[in-house]
Amino acid sequence: MVQGDEQHDAKVATTKKHFVIVGGSLGGLAAGLALRELGHDTTILERNPTPVLEHQGAGIVAGGDTLAFFKKYNRCDRPIAVTSHRRQYLDKDGNVTHKEDMDQNMTSWDLAYYLMRANYDGVENPYCKVPERSLTDGASVHLHNQNVTDIKERDDGLEVFWKSSSGDEGSILADVLVGADGPSSTIRTLLAPEVQRVYAGYCALRGTVLESEVSDAAREAFCERFTFFHCRGVQILAYLIPGKDGTVEPGRRLINFVYYTNFAEGSAELEEIMTDRHGKRHRITLPPGLTDADAWEKQRRIARELLPPQFAEIVCATQKPFVQAVTDVLSPTNEFMHGKVVLIGDALAGFRPHTVASTSQAAFDAMVLADYVDGKLSWEEWKRETLGFARFIQKRGVDMGNRSQFEELPLKEHIHDRNVASVPREKEVYPEWATAI
Ligand SMILES: Cc1cc2nc3c(=O)[nH]c(=O)nc-3n(C[C@H](O)[C@H](O)[C@H](O)COP(=O)(O)OP(=O)(O)OC[C@H]3O[C@@H](n4cnc5c(N)ncnc54)[C@H](O)[C@@H]3O)c2cc1C
Repeated sequence: MVQGDEQHDAKVATTKKHFVIVGGSLGGLAAGLALRELGHDTTILERNPTPVLEHQGAGIVAGGDTLAFFKKYNRCDRPIAVTSHRRQYLDKDGNVTHKEDMDQNMTSWDLAYYLMRANYDGVENPYCKVPERSLTDGASVHLHNQNVTDIKERDDGLEVFWKSSSGDEGSILADVLVGADGPSSTIRTLLAPEVQRVYAGYCALRGTVLESEVSDAAREAFCERFTFFHCRGVQILAYLIPGKDGTVEPGRRLINFVYYTNFAEGSAELEEIMTDRHGKRHRITLPPGLTDADAWEKQRRIARELLPPQFAEIVCATQKPFVQAVTDVLSPTNEFMHGKVVLIGDALAGFRPHTVASTSQAAFDAMVLADYVDGKLSWEEWKRETLGFARFIQKRGVDMGNRSQFEELPLKEHIHDRNVASVPREKEVYPEWATAI
């Protein structure tokens, strides 16, 4: 054993903890990877009844912290993103009215998820080869069908209670619980029940199409371009992401679109778009392939009337659209029960998607939590970094979204908002209200 390993083992032997992580999506996996690499034992409890999460095949913009996370913790050797080289805006006729050369990396949720699962608990998958575990890694256990329902303080730690879909119940002991259970977080609801997740007044209609199956004009508009269109109450954007099984091979990649359009709270239109083909009303996400045929046909008609032809083409061509109601949520703090419970990612702050920062937040929160646990950051630094990001970007998302959907602004204002959202995190200067602890 090399000297570094002995030092590592000695340090861990005196401080080894068991972290129970609630939620096995990108935030929970990121925390699991970062903490087990310090030698701590980790157990992820995911409520989903199947061993892997079912994905929607949609895109995520891989911001600086997402890339930094994969650089640090990913041991699989394969590309993780497709690079877009230009950001551009179209007018209603489909002409480019503004463009800026700029590299941005786009990935797919499923590729990010399977990379993390391969690294965390060795899940075999068609996206990547499972890498070797390091001898110094702590335990990395992933348990599905465990819906966490309650937590109780016990001496030095916590008891975490879960229920399965078949009614089985159990509990597990933790030194620290990491709540990575998303924007409707059970953990946050138990500890800060006053926090509400609130509908923002518009939805994102989403979908993908194969780049090889669109017209030359659409390929020209979206391939390796991050392209936008704004009009009253509407914003649509599209970019290229990895295709089936994470392929980045030209021709097999997917064009991913996000089409924001207003549906007033309580309106018949909102009920219509959120009700699936079997008559079930979905509160936040209507999954791919379940949209009601008539409701989606109506959206296709509207898209052809309102959007530039390239955008209308991809919206109309998508086979399995899905709908997400855009919501706001922000926890007052990231730490409860004297530090025994920590919230990260969407459980801490659910951003509007315009910020393109949700996965970066999850990755960043996991990395700074690991630095704090490892003694590289003080308690105060960790709190200010985590809360500063959460509060500042959450507010930015609300402002960007409301300006885009509910105000009539010249295009230059939207371009300004988009450019502000691209400022690297290290260069952000958080105001005092954002970092107050
Ligand atoms: C299946 C899935 C697909 C997604 N696809 C995309 C996408 O294509 N593009 C995109 O931009 N974003 C997508 N997201 C959202 C994206 O993952 C997050 O915005 C971001 O990465 C932060 O992740 P998070 O882990 O904090 O929260 P989330 O991704 O919301 O994950 C929360 C997890 O906690 C689990 N959970 C919730 N409550 C409990 C409980 N009581 N007990 C145990 N587990 C619980 C949920 O099942 C979920 O797996 C997706 C999320 C999921 C769950």
